Amino acid sequence: MNKFKDGIGLRLLRYVFGCYLVVALIVTGVQLLSEYSQAKSNIFSQTYELEASFKDSFISSMWSFDTPQLEVILAGITKIDIVAGIKIMTEKNQPLASSGNVVTTDSQIISSTDLLAPGIKKIVLVQADSTARQTLFEYKFPLEHRESMSDPFKLIGYGYIYTDVNTIIERVKFSFILIIINSLIKTAALWLFFLYFVNRFIAKPLAALANAAGALNPEKLETLNSSKELDHVMKTKHNDEVYLLATNFDQMRIAILDKLAVIESQKSQLEERVLDRTKSLSKANDELRHLTLHDALTSLPNRTLFKDRLEQFIKVGQRNNTRFIVASIDLCGFKSINDNYGHQIGDLILIEVARRLSSVFRSTDTVARMGGDEFYALLALESDDCSDGEILVQKFIKVLESPILCDEENIPSILISANIGTAIYPLHGEDSAALIKNADMAMYHAKKSGIHHLHYSAEEDIRLRRQSQLAKDFNIAIENNELFLVYQPILNIESNRVTKIEALVRWQHPTLGLISPVEFIPICERTGSIHQLTQWVFQQACTQCKPYCDVDESLSISINLSGRVFSQPEIPQLLENICKLSNMSPSNINLEVTETTAMEKPDQAIDIMNQLTAKGFTISIDDFGTGYSSLSYLVMLPVKELKIDKSFLLNLGKNSEKVIKAMIDLAHSLDLKVVGEGVETKVLLDMLEVMGCDYAQGYYIAKPLSADALHNFLYPPNLQKAHSI
Ligand code: C2E
Ligand code: MG
Ligand code: MG
Repeated sequence: MNKFKDGIGLRLLRYVFGCYLVVALIVTGVQLLSEYSQAKSNIFSQTYELEASFKDSFISSMWSFDTPQLEVILAGITKIDIVAGIKIMTEKNQPLASSGNVVTTDSQIISSTDLLAPGIKKIVLVQADSTARQTLFEYKFPLEHRESMSDPFKLIGYGYIYTDVNTIIERVKFSFILIIINSLIKTAALWLFFLYFVNRFIAKPLAALANAAGALNPEKLETLNSSKELDHVMKTKHNDEVYLLATNFDQMRIAILDKLAVIESQKSQLEERVLDRTKSLSKANDELRHLTLHDALTSLPNRTLFKDRLEQFIKVGQRNNTRFIVASIDLCGFKSINDNYGHQIGDLILIEVARRLSSVFRSTDTVARMGGDEFYALLALESDDCSDGEILVQKFIKVLESPILCDEENIPSILISANIGTAIYPLHGEDSAALIKNADMAMYHAKKSGIHHLHYSAEEDIRLRRQSQLAKDFNIAIENNELFLVYQPILNIESNRVTKIEALVRWQHPTLGLISPVEFIPICERTGSIHQLTQWVFQQACTQCKPYCDVDESLSISINLSGRVFSQPEIPQLLENICKLSNMSPSNINLEVTETTAMEKPDQAIDIMNQLTAKGFTISIDDFGTGYSSLSYLVMLPVKELKIDKSFLLNLGKNSEKVIKAMIDLAHSLDLKVVGEGVETKVLLDMLEVMGCDYAQGYYIAKPLSADALHNFLYPPNLQKAHSI
């Protein structure tokens, strides 16, 4: 009960008790009032009876003027309990006799009220001998007498009977007490009764319901499964509101239980679905990861994964002081396979190459495809001399040798080979970028050299770096005036006169110094700058040599032409235009074309050469003897001259002497003039003269001369000296 100090039971009890108390008080009050008025009317009735009983005695005593008798009677009447006092007055209201407590002329009347009872007044007064207030009921009755029956009644006085209010109260006092006790007992009984039933049928069940509600916890199913409190309430089977509430509440509990069961099953279904989703997500994630880390075509690791593995190899290498190889693999001629057979076949080739690569390399190695026909491999090395890595590379080269058979019709089995460049950690690089770059470098070098496999070499690296710097720097070399021409005189052996001058280009690099054309011309050929260079050399040579040609019309200026310019159909016109601009006659210009480049695309070369000779230029085959000239083509070329490469004279031996002689004879038999290059000594000049060679060029005659030096050479202050060469 303590728990519910302010519970509905106690509150109900308080209100009911309060209400009942008010009602009980009213009822009791009414009862008391009615008891009082009953007593009062009884007393009034007794007063009337007294009047009736003693009236005649009063009248006879008065009629006989027997006042003592009257007083005795009055005294006797006063003894009756209800009578407080009695007095007899004359008809003129003179006191005649009185007894007890009566209103006298000395009495101080405070109020006088007529009551409903006939002849009775309520008088509040203070007696002359007292200060206390009194309330008296006064009954006044007339006293009349007639002498005979035939006479009329004659008023002889009045009688006054007084009753004290206290007498009435005294009479009802006991009843009052009884009524109050009765009310109190009823109130207490009712209160207790109510207390019991309110507690039992309302407060307790409600408290039980409240406890049951409080005990329900959706987190703990057992609290929902059964509820003792609810069971207890429902056992009473009173079909009242509390029972209804408990039943509804129980239904609610069961509904919650059901809902919870549904939620639980949905939860487990959801969990299962989430689990499934998670599984498929992680599967998708794995697939995605595989896709992002592998090449879609060959399923080999891609660039990202390769780099990641490479970093791991480096870490292991650093920790265990071990070596490994980074191999850069490039397929030879893959582009032409793609061009000739289409990308589908190209893809098949790549898949097959990937398969063969994977079959050769071990599980500890990594083979990756970076894109196109670029493959990379990481080969763990077990031996210090890297022989196992070398064996693997050779194995791969070997396994690639067998032709790749395509299922496609009309496509023959395809032969493919690879260039492989390798860099060894940590010898050729300690970080991934350096290792990849150096392996690439080695691969490019192998490709260029036509070798299957090359290890990285620092020298080659330096060379290639220098080449790429030169290629870059050459772009601004012309506009920066870093190029200049030197001229090497060519001697007509028979006349002992310089009748030809070869223009040779030089590059004064701002930081690398003087660069030989042997180094930068191939670079220009690769980058395409050769066209720009050719025009510049041509213009420069025409401008600088025009004055000499004006003096000596037979002077021939030899200008070297790269074979690459033959791919430019407009070259004849271009050269002619340059000549025109400098007023140089094409007949003064001899174009030197190396044997090899002339033979690269003979038909094209022959066509361009024909156009050039048609415009008046003459053509020489430069560095003759170093290439593989086809004599049949040579015959078709509109050339006037062969220049025997300087290597023959510089490395002179018995055999080369014979070769030189044979070349001279061959040229003469084809009606071609011959220039011997590399004449560094008088002996060589004499030898050429003996062999019938037409011209000689070499340091013995003159080294390549600057434009100023050439001028001095051609027009020496002492002409005699110049002719004595
Ligand atoms: P080339 O046309 O055969 O030029 C002759 C080369 O031999 C020149 O080298 C010259 O300096 C060198 N030489 C001449 N006499 C001797 C000698 O007695 N002993 C030795 N050891 N060498 C001698 P250079 O100037 O370095 O030119 C090399 C090559 O560069 C030329 O060979 C030519 O093929 C190419 N070249 C030079 N200038 C040009 C040019 O303006 N355009 C093109 N396309 N190629 C050029
Ligand atoms: Mg030359
Ligand atoms: Mg030459």
